[in-house]
Amino acid sequence: EPIRVGVALSDRSYDILIGRGLIASAGAEIARRLPRVRAAIVSDRNVGGLYSADLSRVLNAAGIGSVAVEVEPGEGTKNFANLEHVVRAVLAARLERGDVVIALGGGVVGDLAGFAAAIVRRGMRFVQLPTSLLAQVDSSVGGKTGINTPEGKNLVGAFHQPSLVIADTGVLDTLPPRELRAGYAEVAKYGLIDDPGFFAWLEANWRGVFSGGPEREHAVATSCRAKARVVAADEHETGERALLNLGHTFGHALEAATGYSQRLVHGEGVAIGMVLAHRFSARMNLASPDDAARVTAHLAGVGLPTELADIEGTLPDADGLMALIAQDKKVSRGTLTFILTHGVGKAFIAKDVPPAAVRDFLADSL
Ligand code: NAD
Ligand code: ZN
Repeated sequence: EPIRVGVALSDRSYDILIGRGLIASAGAEIARRLPRVRAAIVSDRNVGGLYSADLSRVLNAAGIGSVAVEVEPGEGTKNFANLEHVVRAVLAARLERGDVVIALGGGVVGDLAGFAAAIVRRGMRFVQLPTSLLAQVDSSVGGKTGINTPEGKNLVGAFHQPSLVIADTGVLDTLPPRELRAGYAEVAKYGLIDDPGFFAWLEANWRGVFSGGPEREHAVATSCRAKARVVAADEHETGERALLNLGHTFGHALEAATGYSQRLVHGEGVAIGMVLAHRFSARMNLASPDDAARVTAHLAGVGLPTELADIEGTLPDADGLMALIAQDKKVSRGTLTFILTHGVGKAFIAKDVPPAAVRDFLADSL
């Protein structure tokens, strides 16, 4: 039996199903909720090669005819050219508004396919079949879709909620270990935001999450519940949803500093960013340095980078990093909004962080 997490929105709700081997029942689950639909399966070459044929077969068995649309793997795929490719493939297959776009892949495929679903015929149905840990615990839940432009990441997009999310935790067995660790940073984030019990559970059980024991389903479900709670409270990100950015202000600056390259993938930037957020909070006398040490020990223990020195190559100096932070965040009247913490599981939105204090902290951390 899969674990079921409900996402309650203002006007409707949908299920997230979590369990090992769920692709096998995806056809029945979709057909039960969306009778008589046809489907476009959007995937990247890596994931499509592994799972697209299986999915198409189980859809067929449930009476759902499908076409497959494939894109190249990688962040560079989230662009206008691929959006057009997906949109036109869906139109060429003569899918109608009530038909469904299925995103089978990581966050890149989910964001791209979701945005296509949002705009084709002013909004088609959309089902997420996330295949990376990051996508299962973060990007597939919440309805944010979009693409990148030369001006920046995720600057063009739409809120478009899925009708169903199916997280088959078994497919994570083929995910490259580095991607699994990167997604784990987002799992740990939910503990650090407001669930100290979950963080302590992860400290004791992380090995099972990585090896694919039943701990993995529990970790994914707990993360989805946390994200669903925040999304339900703040569907269009006007307030509390900002807590999900714990570690992301520093993390995004480090991603930008490394050119969004394989020097640092997103979750690794988040891991270092969460450590920095805890250390900076300690320095501002908001939290104990013991909490920062505890967070560092856990993330380093699973093999994530936690120090600026863990990043290969040279980084900008403190002023250079501040310039990147200012680009990412709205600096209003000389103050920064940061997610800081009073300790493990006690994150809060700090609206009046003095940039000079952040700069000096970074200078001392480099
Ligand atoms: P990704 O989609 O690029 O996947 C990572 C890599 O793993 C890719 O090479 C992919 O082909 C491969 N892969 C995925 N699943 C696999 C599997 N089961 N087996 C083997 N290989 C597999 O990256 P990601 O980390 O999943 O997602 C990152 C994207 O998500 C970014 O574009 C980011 O902006 C977006 N994102 C969106 C939201 C949101 O709310 N919409 C939230 C967080 C992140
Ligand atoms: Zn993130």
